[in-house]
Amino acid sequence: MSDGPPVASKILLIVMDGASDRPVNGTTPLASADTPNLDALAYGGINGIMDTVGIGVRPGSDVSHLAILGYDPFKYYTGRGPFEAAGIGIDVKRGDIAFRCNFATVEDGIVRDRRAGRIEDTDELARAIREKVKVPGVDIIFKRSTGHRAALVLRGKGLSPDITDTDPHKSGVPLSECRATTGSAGARHTADIVNSVSRQVIEALDHHPVNMARKERGLLPGNAILIRGAGDVPDLPGFHGKYGMKGAVVASPGLIIGIGKLCGMECHTIGGLGIELSGSVADEKIDKAVAELRTHDFVLVNVKGADEAGHDGDFERKARFFEEMDISFKGLLHLPDVLVIVTADHSTPVSVRGHSADPVPIVMHGPGVRIDDVDRYSELIAHKGGLTRIKGLDVMPIAMDLLNRTKKFGA
Ligand SMILES: [Zn+2]
Repeated sequence: MSDGPPVASKILLIVMDGASDRPVNGTTPLASADTPNLDALAYGGINGIMDTVGIGVRPGSDVSHLAILGYDPFKYYTGRGPFEAAGIGIDVKRGDIAFRCNFATVEDGIVRDRRAGRIEDTDELARAIREKVKVPGVDIIFKRSTGHRAALVLRGKGLSPDITDTDPHKSGVPLSECRATTGSAGARHTADIVNSVSRQVIEALDHHPVNMARKERGLLPGNAILIRGAGDVPDLPGFHGKYGMKGAVVASPGLIIGIGKLCGMECHTIGGLGIELSGSVADEKIDKAVAELRTHDFVLVNVKGADEAGHDGDFERKARFFEEMDISFKGLLHLPDVLVIVTADHSTPVSVRGHSADPVPIVMHGPGVRIDDVDRYSELIAHKGGLTRIKGLDVMPIAMDLLNRTKKFGA
């Protein structure tokens, strides 16, 4: 092997969240943006399109990242709660039941505002919940996230995720009772715990000084939490054990960091809390990812801005985001022993203002790839390349084989 052609020893996987689109007047933000460096990766690489989770499956970012990392979401995905909780730094364990929460305003049992007037500073309220809310035999772990968001984890014996939300998902209606969705004793027991937590939180927060001060200023109090998205913490095989590679993740806070943590990868949080409109944060993330390649064999980096522009239906801003971040691809064209992969986790078409199942473009650039005729990075032409149409679960096997790390099957 030593005198043969060069082989990559590391993988840099860049996921541009929600990057691809449906055509508007015959073109897309990605196809119309001026991105010479991204195009150079496509020109010197092997290209294709990818159904991240499945044909016609409209994926969330969590399930699509799991699939791209080689974890079948139909087997491992148990809901968003565990990843959110892990993503904000709760050390979740197998058997825990995790939830997403909102601080909310509840008056006489009626949900007046699902975000408590977009409350920001919830440190004191979260501390009061940790100090005052108790359920015998169960650990209650509660942590605030950004804005009105938070996560709740229940740890104890015989808990079940088969329960409904206390979040009625609209305002002006009563706070919901949590109910078991199966006849199991564990589900009924867990529903009772959640209802107890929900009631105790209102007792702890309704007259809390922070809320009294908010009311005096004419602001809505954050005097309740809406609990939703119950999931038991999945038993994900560790990334290192699965691939024999030391992995790292660079992303904004939240879901993707949570996935990295549950796969046992080192995680680095960079960038805005949700909104990340400029290409400069993307540049910073890619710089960090390249730096992490010195000490890791595999780095996943997720950049956010395109997805947000898609959700806002803003074609121009989405195109501009690619142009702004294009410079960060320049340094990736000549990384000597790195297989660089650039793809998206799903399409977020500006015409849909949400996710769609349209396949995403993917390019692999590095030693050993069969360079094809595709000369631009675009969801409109990537299918003409040598990868044709693949699934998210195919990415890691293809990459591992290009690194000569797959085992021979058969004689
Ligand atoms: Zn996404």
